[in-house]
Order: sequence, then C-alpha cells, then structure tokens
Amino acid sequence: MSRSAHPAGPRHADVLPEGHYSAPPADLNALDPKVWAQTVSRDEDGALTVGGIPVTRLAEEFGTPAYVLDETDFRARARAWRSAFGNDADVFYAGKAFLSRAVVRWLDEEGLNLDVCSGGELATALSAGMPADRIAFHGNNKSVAEIRRAVGAGVGRIVLDSFQEIVRVAHIAQSLGTRQRVQIRVTVGVEAHTHEFIATAHEDQKFGIPLAGGQAAEAVRRALQLDGLEVIGIHSHIGSQIFDMSGFEVAAHRVVGLLKDIRDEHGVELPEIDLGGGLGIAYTSDDDPREPHEIAKALTEIVARECEAARLSTPRLSVEPGRAIVGPTAFTVYEVGTIKPLDGLRTYVSVDGGMSDNIRTALYDADYSVALVSRRSEAEPMLSRVVGKHCESGDIVVRDAFLPGDLAPGDLIAVPATGAYCRSMASNYNHVLRPPVVAVADGEARVIVRRETEDDLLRLDVG
Ligand SMILES: *Cc1c(COP(=O)(O)O)cnc(C)c1O
Repeated sequence: MSRSAHPAGPRHADVLPEGHYSAPPADLNALDPKVWAQTVSRDEDGALTVGGIPVTRLAEEFGTPAYVLDETDFRARARAWRSAFGNDADVFYAGKAFLSRAVVRWLDEEGLNLDVCSGGELATALSAGMPADRIAFHGNNKSVAEIRRAVGAGVGRIVLDSFQEIVRVAHIAQSLGTRQRVQIRVTVGVEAHTHEFIATAHEDQKFGIPLAGGQAAEAVRRALQLDGLEVIGIHSHIGSQIFDMSGFEVAAHRVVGLLKDIRDEHGVELPEIDLGGGLGIAYTSDDDPREPHEIAKALTEIVARECEAARLSTPRLSVEPGRAIVGPTAFTVYEVGTIKPLDGLRTYVSVDGGMSDNIRTALYDADYSVALVSRRSEAEPMLSRVVGKHCESGDIVVRDAFLPGDLAPGDLIAVPATGAYCRSMASNYNHVLRPPVVAVADGEARVIVRRETEDDLLRLDVG
C-alpha cells in the first residue's frame, strides 16, 4: 500500500454547502456503537477490529471492497427480536434485506421465520434447510411457476397481493390437491417514512389491495369462497426506515377494522395479523432507533387495544424486520484510491467500489457515515464525499462526511450499517465484480458469499 502526500482538502470552515451533516464530530477516531456492529472496537494500534480480528488482516486476506458481517451481532439481534415478541407472535426475517445460506441457518437456529419474495430467495431458503412451513412467500407478481413451487414445497403462507392472484393460487393449490394458507395484503392508506408518516396517503402503489372503496373486503369475500385457500389473516406493510410508531397505530386500527367487518359479514374471526417490517436503524449518529422489546411492547399493545375496542379476540401477531436485524451487523471496507480536493467545496475520496455495492445513496439519497479504520489519525477533519469508481457522477457512497485531513491512498475506510439492501441490491455495473460477504465471530473469519470473479462474468456471456 503506497502512501503519497497530497494537499490537504478544504476544511469545514471554508464552506458548509447544503448537506446532511452539522459540525464535524469531536473525535474522528470514535466509533459510535449505534452505527457499528456490536463487536467493533479499535485495537492498540488504532485499527478497527471486529469479532476480535483487525480489519487490516481481513482486507489482506479477503481483499477490498468487502462486506464484513458480525455474526455474533446478527444472532444477538435475531434473538432479541424473537424473545421480545415471545411465543404469541412470529418474527419473519425479510430475506430481501440480505439472504445467504449461512444467514438462513442462523435464523433457523435462532427460531425466526423467513420472508421470501422470489423463486431465487425461496430456493436459497429451502437449500439451506429452512422448514417450508416457516417460510412466507411475498410479491406483487409471483409467476405461476413460483407459486407452484411454493405451494408444492408447503410454504407456511403465501401473501396474496391482487385479485388475480387469489384465483391463481387457489387454482394451483387445488390442482396440487392441497389447501394453501394465505394472508391478504392490504394497503391501509398510511405511508411511513423515517420520522414522519402520512395517515391519508393515497393507495397509489403496486403493492396490496386498498382498504378504500371496500376492495380489500371484496378480496376477502372472494378468497373465503375458494376451496384451495385457507385465509389465515390480513397483512400490512407501511414503509421503511420507520422510527415513529404512530404509523403502525393507524395501520393496526384500520386492519382491525377490516377484521371486524369480516367477522360481522362472514361470522369468522381471522386468526392472524401481520404488521410488516420497516423498523429503522441508525445510519448516522443522528438516528435513534428503538429496541426490539420497545417495538414489541408497542405493537402488541396497539393490536390488543384495537381488538378489545372491536370486541375481537386478539389475533396472533407477526412482524417482518429485515433491515433492523441485518443492517447494523455489517460494514463495507474499501481501500482509498484517488483523493481530489476541490477548493472551496470539498474533497472527493474515491474508493475501489461504489454504487455497484451500495446503490442506496444514489437511489434513495440515503445517509451513511464513514471512518478511517486502518489506523488512528489526529489530523484535522476534512469535509469529504466518498465516491465510487463507476462512470456515473451520481456514484456516491457517502454524500457528506468528515475524514481526517491526512487521509492517503492505501488507507482503509469503512462505511457502517451496510448489512441491509447493499449486497442484495448489488450490481455488475461497469463489469465491476461484486464483493464478498465475510462473516466474523470469535476470532474466526469465513467467506459466506464469495467475491465474484471475471470467470463468473464471462461464464454468463456465452456469445
Ligand atoms: C421490505 C419488506 C419488509 C422488510 O422491510 P425492512 O425495512 O427491511 O424491515 C417486510 N415486509 C415486506 C412485505 C416488505 O416488502
């Protein structure tokens, strides 16, 4: 690793362009436990360690960029969710956040269930031995082949997302001589996003069947008549990166309202209610997520209260956290390449990955934090933008961050809280090879998803 001198970048005092940051942190070497995985700390040499292994050693052994996943933390979070909800509720991990066979086995061992939303996710879950009856199958456009496979495998529930799918799943189940347990996904007119929610959001989206205009009630009416279906409950998912529980309160109120209407019309009390996922995590020190036990208490109480008011017996609750379990457990380690100070603006720090391993900044204008992790530095903070190596000016990993002014090519920097929706949304843009996922625990590191190779790329290119 060469380390060449370069002119120090502009200081924060030079300019504070509009951005998602305030003042530089008091200590650039500090690793806020809110945003870093549980076993992360700095060793005497100043390098970050995780699971007892210095990140410098991980980079040497596995290369960069790499996702480093703290297995101890993952299991602890999975367990915390499981025990917070207890035996009267089910926790379904949302596999789309990040899925691999190792993760499936951890979930199985920790007693969680699993959401999948494609044939590929279902295949991964089944091949790692997740019992089918603990798998839920989601999606707004499941293919006939996917439905057939899910029903044939005996998945615990299929979440129905349209009128056509009600008929399709019923037909397939019947042709396979079975009765499929299903939930009906409704849109409740609540849209939750980070710190706010809108209780009167219009149902203008591709997922679910609107409660509005009696459409959801009509869906239930039709599903109840079909022999191939066993309607077990109603499903609602209101958004992502939610901190405020009031959106769930409104959603639960409206879903329970539907359960009551169903009871009044059909004389059946559906036994389950699923309130989805979307619970927020800390990407930066400004975020204050709730603990699983607080979330469990709030949701359980909300559902109990609403059911009591509607004189319904309390249905079995399920939740579907994805990000809240895996998000904080991983960070991405990059090697610093080109450093480009732009006078009066900021310093562009290029890394050996980018939007191909983390699309969230470009796609959602997401905030991330970043730290120098191969050493400690006492240099002045330097207002930086961490960018990737792709041929696209929107290729930004961390929009606004302070890094030490003596940052140099060859240094390792890491972006925390990249466990969710980074590897799972990774691409091959510019034929960049997707990074590995390295799991660490108790002083041991192992690859659970290997780095892509040029052979992998060329194998698909059969021309
Ligand atoms: C995406 C999704 C989840 C998980 O969302 P997180 O923000 O990762 O918790 C859960 N349920 C459904 C139906 C989803 O679409």
